[in-house]
Amino acid sequence: MAESSRLVFNRDFDAAHGVAERLSPLVARVLAPNPGPFTFRGTGVYLVGGKAGVAVIDPGPDLPRHIEALKRAIGARKLSHILVTHSHRDHSPAARALKAWSGAPVMAMAAAPPVLEEGAAVDEAHDHGFVPDEMVTDGQVIAGEGFTLTCVATPGHTGGHMAYALAEEGALFCGDHVMGWSTSVIAPPDGSMGAYMASLEKLIARGDRVLYPTHGAPIAEPRGYLEALLAHRRMREAEVLAAWRGGARGAAAIAARLYPDIAPALRAAAGVQVQAHLDHLAQQGLVALR
Ligand SMILES: [Zn+2]
Repeated sequence: MAESSRLVFNRDFDAAHGVAERLSPLVARVLAPNPGPFTFRGTGVYLVGGKAGVAVIDPGPDLPRHIEALKRAIGARKLSHILVTHSHRDHSPAARALKAWSGAPVMAMAAAPPVLEEGAAVDEAHDHGFVPDEMVTDGQVIAGEGFTLTCVATPGHTGGHMAYALAEEGALFCGDHVMGWSTSVIAPPDGSMGAYMASLEKLIARGDRVLYPTHGAPIAEPRGYLEALLAHRRMREAEVLAAWRGGARGAAAIAARLYPDIAPALRAAAGVQVQAHLDHLAQQGLVALR
C-alpha cells in the first residue's frame, strides 16, 4: 500500500479555552470550553481578518463565557460576517448572540434540517431553528477587511456543509468535513457517504496549503492525509460489501460481523457508519436494500 494511504491521526493539541491564539497573519482561534467525545478539546472558532475587521467562522456553542471570550478577541474591530460550516450544535448556536451584539449577517449553505421522526437520534446533534440570514453557494466570494473567502461546498458530514477558503493564505476552513484527530461521523439520512467521499476528492484536487478543522490542530500539506481518509473509507466500504455478499443483512448484523470486539457504547455509532456505506453501495447498485 502506498505511503500516502496510511491514516495517522494527530491528537497532539493543547490549546487553552477562551484565549485568542494567533495561527497566521490573518487567522486566530478561540477554543470553546465544550470538550467531548465528538468535539475533542472543544470547538475551535476562527477569526479571520486584520486590524480593522474580521469574520468569524463557526461561532460555536451558546455558552456565556465563550461568547464573552469571542467578544474580547474581536475587541474594537468590526465583525463583518458570521460564517457557519453547518448547523450542528457545537458550531452554530453562538451565531445568535454574536449577531445581536454586532449586527453582522449569519451566512451558511443551509438551515438546520427538519426534526425527524423518532428513532433518528443522530439528528439531535442539530441546532434546530438555525436559519442563516444569507444562504451561500459554492464558489461565492465573501470579501472583508484584508481577506477574501470563497465558499467550497463540501456535503457529506451533513447535507448542507460549506467550507471556506482563504485566498491570501492558501488555507481552507473545513469544519467537520475533515478532522486531524479522528474520522468524521457520517450519519444518514442528513449525512451521505457518497457525498462525503466526493467532497474528499474535491479537496484533494484543490491543493490547499493548510486545513483548519473545527476540532483539533491545523493540518499542513493535507493532500496525503486526505488521500488516506478516502482510502480508509473505500476499504471499509469493501468490507461492508464483502459481508453483505457473505449473507449478512442489515447494518447491525454487518457491524457485528466486522467489529466483533467493539465496546457496547460504540455499537450504535458503528451501525450508523455501516448504514452510510450500505446506502452508498445501494446508490451504486452494488447491494439491494429493502
Ligand atoms: Zn458536525
